[in-house]
Amino acid sequence: MRFLITAGPTREAIDPVRYLSNRSSGKMGYAMAESAIESGHEVVLISGPVNLPAPPGAQLISFSSSDELHDAVREHLPNCDILVMCAAVADYKPADVSAQKIKKRGEPMALELVPTRDILASLPAERTYRVVGFAAETENVEENARRKLRAKRCDLIVANDVSDAKIGMESDENEVTVFFKNGEKRKIPRASKKNIARALTKIFENV
Ligand code: C5P
Repeated sequence: MRFLITAGPTREAIDPVRYLSNRSSGKMGYAMAESAIESGHEVVLISGPVNLPAPPGAQLISFSSSDELHDAVREHLPNCDILVMCAAVADYKPADVSAQKIKKRGEPMALELVPTRDILASLPAERTYRVVGFAAETENVEENARRKLRAKRCDLIVANDVSDAKIGMESDENEVTVFFKNGEKRKIPRASKKNIARALTKIFENV
């Protein structure tokens, strides 16, 4: 199979030297890429700014902003069998990017934010590929995951509770629950991201 995997955080520019980002390390997406390659699949890995070595065998494409990620996904999707959307995409970006570095003024300042484009939700309804979304939640994990499965028209949602510092963002371990369109769910108990990725690869091969 041909896997298109996105990983890492987005950076939304405020001015030439500042940006809004998040704590995503990219570890889960890179582990997914390594596992898919290990299982003999072709992998295009679209990666945000992370401190991880490129997985040998993957075609690596870099993005910084959510708009760049959107464009890279749209470009490569037609040649893929499954999109695995691990990237932690910003929900908001600055309304305007200042051309010059914003000066300190010793008084409160407000930054106007506008919603980013939801990459998954904006994919066409007619598809030749499967779509897997990831949901990092700090509360009501199941309810939110099921809502995202429907709203983003995914075939699967992989949800994890990031309120536990031992698992999820930045950690080497994870614990996830996979939600299927037919209402089924499957929990993958706590393990290294590498082993979680191996279990997920097997599930993705059969969606
Ligand atoms: O809504 P939330 O950000 O929790 O959804 C998570 C899933 O949606 C992830 O798979 C993420 O990559 C994707 N997403 C997206 N476009 C956005 C925000 C999130 O495709 N603007």
